[in-house]
Amino acid sequence: DPFLQISNISKTFNHFTALNDISFDIYKNEFVCLLGPSGCGKTTLLRIIAGLEEADHGSIKKNGEEMLHLPPVQREFGIVFQSYALFPNLTALQNVEYGLKNKKVSKAELKQRAMEALQMVDLEQIKDKYPAHLSGGQQQRVALARAIALSPKFLLLDEPLSALDAKVRKKLRYEIKCLQQKLGITTIMVTHDQEEALTMADKVVVMNNAQIMQVGTPEEIYFHPANPFVADFVGSINIWNHHVEGVTKAIRPEHIRLSKNQGMKSEIKAIEFRGATYRIELEVIDSASPLYSQKIEVDLFASSIQAFNLKRGSIIFVQF
Ligand code: ADP
Ligand code: MG
Repeated sequence: DPFLQISNISKTFNHFTALNDISFDIYKNEFVCLLGPSGCGKTTLLRIIAGLEEADHGSIKKNGEEMLHLPPVQREFGIVFQSYALFPNLTALQNVEYGLKNKKVSKAELKQRAMEALQMVDLEQIKDKYPAHLSGGQQQRVALARAIALSPKFLLLDEPLSALDAKVRKKLRYEIKCLQQKLGITTIMVTHDQEEALTMADKVVVMNNAQIMQVGTPEEIYFHPANPFVADFVGSINIWNHHVEGVTKAIRPEHIRLSKNQGMKSEIKAIEFRGATYRIELEVIDSASPLYSQKIEVDLFASSIQAFNLKRGSIIFVQF
């Protein structure tokens, strides 16, 4: 049975539909990512799960029991926001302890549990520092410690990495995932970053315009996107209307091969450096081809660019 069962959740703000009939299940120990562009309703859905926002319609069951009428404290979750939301006048340890104060525990136990949580995010040595003296990554780990110190039944993360720079973000991605697996804690993380969702999630819920576009494993949504929105949002994709067969064709830029003499004759229109790869834009110039005059995007390693001596205006042949 699912741990959380989200059924037919809808929400409007003054006639504006923020969530439209959202349903999916979350199993125990699962890491679920809500992935979608800004404004699609991800935070609203997380806040409804947390009890910080009221749904107009629908149900959320935890272990089979309706949870929507419960106040936030009785839902037993930990939460981390994009902005670390630490108290500036409290040390790291005091910030973590603060989250425990509602629970009726002794002072000694309070401190012990806070220390354990800080150890789990590898921050014992900075426990007496104030937020202003911590890096962004450390502040976010304090926020994470505060969320897990309560031993919650599930964890809600709203874009916890998006305020951090790229290197710290990748490191923390890995740390959060390890911690989640170690604690075996059911987690729902909101992100607009497809790479983050693909690398961290067991299950991805792709959203757009207040609706679910697809629910699946990272591999399912990448290799078998249910619709053009998912295909385009999760990675890049070429989509063409085939003049002759009258069908739509889709192929990912990394699945296209180039040849010196075989395939569709094409001209290089642009070459863009992307770090690990180059993104090449081609135009099919073979007038006999069903894709004549259509644009194609191809991802290549630097070695291929050199092997084919590619420049803007070069003529090359495309196969797939
Ligand atoms: P996301 O987290 O995916 O970026 P949100 O859930 O924050 O999206 O917002 C979804 C939509 O609902 C947005 O268009 C936003 O402006 C609107 N919205 C969110 N909260 C409120 C509110 N309290 N009042 C009015 N509109 C809101
Ligand atoms: Mg949001």
